[in-house]
Amino acid sequence: MARFTFRRLHRPGEGWTGHDQPGALRGPPTEWADRGPPVGGHPPAELMADDEPRPTVGGLRDDDLEGRDWERVRPRRISDADWKRYEGYMGEILQALGMSLNTPGTLKTPMRYLRAMFDSTEGYEGDDKLVTAFPTECYGGPDCELSQVIDGPIPFYALCEHHAFPFFGHAYLGYVAHEHIIGISKLTRLVRLFARRFTVQERMGREITEALSRILQAHGVAVYLEAVHLCTQMRGVRESESTTRTTFWRGNYESNAELREEFLNIARSRANGHFS
Ligand SMILES: [Zn+2]
Ligand SMILES: [Zn+2]
Repeated sequence: MARFTFRRLHRPGEGWTGHDQPGALRGPPTEWADRGPPVGGHPPAELMADDEPRPTVGGLRDDDLEGRDWERVRPRRISDADWKRYEGYMGEILQALGMSLNTPGTLKTPMRYLRAMFDSTEGYEGDDKLVTAFPTECYGGPDCELSQVIDGPIPFYALCEHHAFPFFGHAYLGYVAHEHIIGISKLTRLVRLFARRFTVQERMGREITEALSRILQAHGVAVYLEAVHLCTQMRGVRESESTTRTTFWRGNYESNAELREEFLNIARSRANGHFS
């Protein structure tokens, strides 16, 4: 209960100095504020539920309130024997392409390459169904039907399923909130959940859109992705600087052109300098 007590003691006007508390509560306040798991086996959200003001957009501390378990619910297991076999395959392939595996720099490249691919596809281990949002209040009227929350740019790195080559860029997410909002760090992790796989830009955008719609139960959801695809840029003579842009709309955005335009204007103004 230490954390709960600390927060109550620091309500404005109560004048706690930090020196009149017995035993374990003594110490610099910042130390308590930054401390990890709360004492007593209660999750932080439970302890803080009655004590914290309702969060507002921009002031969300979702990492504080919820674990990251949803990013690791389906760990992929590959046996040591399989890893060894895959390294053999990779070694053969890399040598056939021209790499010499007998140098200090390349001796472990097959293993490192597989490891990097494994890390780059860790999105398969997560489950967006477990992501939750913050409650907020809907006051109805035009504010609730038209006011957007727009987050981005959120950088992402994905692998195209056609070539297993990276495509990467930025995501911009918008929503017209109803009774739930979500913090930028959780949005970032949600984007990564769908990016770190073998996918295509269209599916990735659709999955983010559908997950956000379900999590937020919002009046509308908008997703704008812009990315460069190395499979078209690195090979042969097909070098280009082209950026692929995709948009996805749900709810109020589908029927309201001004809402879409406002979202795209803000997203693109923030995008200036990234891909222009
Ligand atoms: Zn491709
Ligand atoms: Zn509403």
